Amino acid sequence: MRIAGFAARHPQTLAASVSIALAGFAVTAFGVAPQVPDPAALPQRTIVESVPTVDLRSQLDALADHDLELFRSEITRAGDTTDSLLARLNVSDARAAAFLRSDPIARRLFEGRSGKRVQVRVDSHGSLVELIARYAAPIVDKLPTQFTRLRVQRIADQLVADITTAPLASQVLMGSGTVRSSLFNATDEAGIPDAVATQLAEIFANDIDFRRELKRGASFSVVYEALTAEGEPITWGPVNGRVLAAEFVNKGQTFSAMWFKDGDGKGAYFGLDGQSKQRSFLASPLEFSRVTSGFAMRMHPIFNNWKQHNGVDYGAPVGTPVRTVGEGVVEFAGWQNGYGNVIQVRHGNERLTVYAHLSHIDVAKGQHVEQGAIIGAVGQTGWATGPHLHFEVKIDGLQQDPLLVAQTSEAAVLAPASKARFGQLAQSVRVQLNVAETLPRAPLLGE
Ligand SMILES: [Zn+2]
Repeated sequence: MRIAGFAARHPQTLAASVSIALAGFAVTAFGVAPQVPDPAALPQRTIVESVPTVDLRSQLDALADHDLELFRSEITRAGDTTDSLLARLNVSDARAAAFLRSDPIARRLFEGRSGKRVQVRVDSHGSLVELIARYAAPIVDKLPTQFTRLRVQRIADQLVADITTAPLASQVLMGSGTVRSSLFNATDEAGIPDAVATQLAEIFANDIDFRRELKRGASFSVVYEALTAEGEPITWGPVNGRVLAAEFVNKGQTFSAMWFKDGDGKGAYFGLDGQSKQRSFLASPLEFSRVTSGFAMRMHPIFNNWKQHNGVDYGAPVGTPVRTVGEGVVEFAGWQNGYGNVIQVRHGNERLTVYAHLSHIDVAKGQHVEQGAIIGAVGQTGWATGPHLHFEVKIDGLQQDPLLVAQTSEAAVLAPASKARFGQLAQSVRVQLNVAETLPRAPLLGE
């Protein structure tokens, strides 16, 4: 029987067509806005051969008689080897594996950081025809504008590798997702880059405490500028595009934001109601990131016999940058019993912030610091049982909840002359967010 025969001869081909269908779903979920994308510019993930849509048997017969080529793509992971990557890509080609292990150019695929986007073209036997990896440019200055392209090709039955840099392009993309376990899991599922996830958490930091109160089932929609490498959204680097508009629904409350540049101003995030999202105090001295979001945080009133040890502890790896939550003047920078390396920053209106257990201090007493300036790094100096940042906010010497202080701190206001233009833009943003909301997402299981 020919179907069985085909399946036996091409097991990977059949498995691959299933994964291609899923990859196609991911692409639609990643829809491009506002322009309709040029189909030619979209990543190719389809079976090259076109077959008449009759019944499965005749399709399989037709496929069996042709030389079929398939495209597959993957992202390299930390610890990946030639074998693990090729296995995920469904490539069974001992010669290609040997080439990837031994060729000095091809081997660079496994050097440096993971997260490289790898696309392969294979024939019906699972043998490699072409491999293209796209990843960060080798020079920091070039990160925002260029990417590296490593290619392995089969030419006249010989494998050859070459490496070049090429320019990145910019696109407006939209995405949406539902939180099952964490914000980063949700953005991963939706194919949204980490840099966009981090911005979401920062934009809504005063509305939602992402470390403590983000609930399963929370949902978001986002419109953002993204850098692309030959039509593929890039997955690396801190340089990815800016969030243009976003909406977050948590515990039944809806929060929205859009980027707005006021005349010759710097540009900032505002709610669609015109209220600024930026305040004179940040909600957190650590940027929300994949690393810091994975650590527990606790409020603790008293720790053993260390009196007045009030504040918030952020678990984080040693060396994580610590930023001042507001503009101010460094009042103390040095060693104190219990606190270890500690910085105190004096702000307006009798407000003082304290950053303790630091591994190092990057400011000096009397120095003026802007909001968000990096002043030191997380450590475990002084009385600390593990690496963490101990953070306090005091008003008139009394301990306060940092999030409450941030929420009630001064906010920028929209210039009256900008209100009309803002209103128009807010309307079109509302439309875009509604479109983003309708993008298909994976169902929330177990509800
Ligand atoms: Zn503490």
